[in-house]
Amino acid sequence: MNKKPKSVDAYIKAAPREAQAKLKHIRKIIKAAAPKATERISYGIPYYDHVGRLAYFMLARAHIGLYLMPPVVAKYRRELAGYATSKSTIRLPLGEKIPVMLVRKLIKASVAHNDARYNEKTCSRGHEFQKSSSQPVCPTCWPGRYRKKLVLRIRGNKAKGV
Ligand SMILES: [Zn+2]
Repeated sequence: MNKKPKSVDAYIKAAPREAQAKLKHIRKIIKAAAPKATERISYGIPYYDHVGRLAYFMLARAHIGLYLMPPVVAKYRRELAGYATSKSTIRLPLGEKIPVMLVRKLIKASVAHNDARYNEKTCSRGHEFQKSSSQPVCPTCWPGRYRKKLVLRIRGNKAKGV
């Protein structure tokens, strides 16, 4: 896989035939466990967003790497004892069956983790603010960044007469 794929379909299509079914399976499990997540390619690999970073997966020579945001992997380390893991990754060997229930559980835990964070009314430094799609991050910690986008969008809508 030398060329950067532009979609998850392209990423899977570019993989060796024998790995494609596994990649499709992982994708299916993620989509079923995180139905509201959006899918795209990020850093050259399949990526899922659910009110923030949720998961990535990638094909390596002998395994599929599943990347989840901390602390999910650490939280389930007992159930993951049979797999090589790091703080945020799990290696699923290509020669073994995908542990469907376990992957589903990890994705659902990640969704719950992101939802809980999204519903917090303070940022990690304690500033109070109301999260929304146009203000997803703390305006004190990230001044201007999202406000600018919002202003541009409002301007765009005005220009369109919306
Ligand atoms: Zn803040």
